[in-house]
Amino acid sequence: MTEPVKPHATHPSELDAPPKLKLAILTCMDARINLWDLFHLGLGDAHVIRNAGAIATPDVIRSLAASQRLLETEEIVVIAHTDCGIHRIAPTEFAKQVGEETGTVPDWTVPATDDPHSTLALTLDVLRAAPELKHRDKITGWVLDVESGELTSADAG
Ligand SMILES: [Zn+2]
Repeated sequence: MTEPVKPHATHPSELDAPPKLKLAILTCMDARINLWDLFHLGLGDAHVIRNAGAIATPDVIRSLAASQRLLETEEIVVIAHTDCGIHRIAPTEFAKQVGEETGTVPDWTVPATDDPHSTLALTLDVLRAAPELKHRDKITGWVLDVESGELTSADAG
């Protein structure tokens, strides 16, 4: 690694900046999640925001506010997943470990649990209550099972 490769035949200059599907996706940075295959997305279709755990941090809310208010998206899909690193160590514990190593304790207090379904529920609660977001009526959550490849709706129980 790492030389950039040309990812798509479509040149970005042929596309408008607002996503064609009026969709923003929040998911984990986990390298096993291939959103483009999962949702049959093409270049220009959706905004994709990724972080460790698909957590609704202040920067995620800022990005989603810009997505909706400046770039016309109206729907948010959040995808958590099984075997996520965020569930193996609590963010506060991780921040403490980094603090012990570096002498500076980061402020990484984020809503996360040790389970993808409950962490996703916390993320959905934060997004659905965020006044910065213009469209909060089409926010859905999904859990990807990285073993089976199955997506389960957060509303499935
Ligand atoms: Zn993850």
